[in-house]
Amino acid sequence: MAASAMASQKLLSMGTKIIGVGRNYVAHAKELGNAVPKDPVLFMKPTSSYLANGGTIEIPHPLKSLHHEVELAVVIGQKARDVSVAAAMDYVGGYALALDMTAREIQSQAKSAGLPWSVAKGQDTFTPISPVIPKSLVANPHDLELWLKVNDEIRQKGSTKDMIFDIPFLISHISSIFTLMEGDVILTGTPEGVGPVAIGDKVTAGITGLIDVHFDVQIRPKPFIG
Ligand code: MG
Repeated sequence: MAASAMASQKLLSMGTKIIGVGRNYVAHAKELGNAVPKDPVLFMKPTSSYLANGGTIEIPHPLKSLHHEVELAVVIGQKARDVSVAAAMDYVGGYALALDMTAREIQSQAKSAGLPWSVAKGQDTFTPISPVIPKSLVANPHDLELWLKVNDEIRQKGSTKDMIFDIPFLISHISSIFTLMEGDVILTGTPEGVGPVAIGDKVTAGITGLIDVHFDVQIRPKPFIG
């Protein structure tokens, strides 16, 4: 691995948290019957949910509906608190392609009961993520094509230009609530086309022209108590 790539991987391992942004693409908000938000919908995932490229995504056992959400991940490069929109991009250290795996029926039950999404989104292997792409290789993060295939079927294809809240706004907004630390990740939301994965599926996803990743899907060996 080249020195710059090793430095990028170290960056991700230094992170303290993953901040998810919900409903950041109009077409995806509509496909789940959600209103388009006036302010970003934020949730947090633990870094223990990361899964490196080539790993196995685990469906909770007993079998639960587990959906793929392909997303651009922004990796923070330096501590950020109360940063302005104008200065926000200075705090980006790199980018990655991530999947915000979501146990959809658990999330739906949580939504109806007014409960948090931690169990639906934070379990082990629920954040498959690519190696970090250095910022210098990404000319315009708001013009990237994200795609995801299950086996040979294209399920998701979208452009980051369709984000409702752009990256500088998200960094500024989030840093006014949580101090962002070096290596923290913002998952910027998914375009439309989310759907379930099944045991034995092969999931591939990427950012066109930059990176692609591959994951298997299996059921978790141990029963989920919940
Ligand atoms: Mg998501």
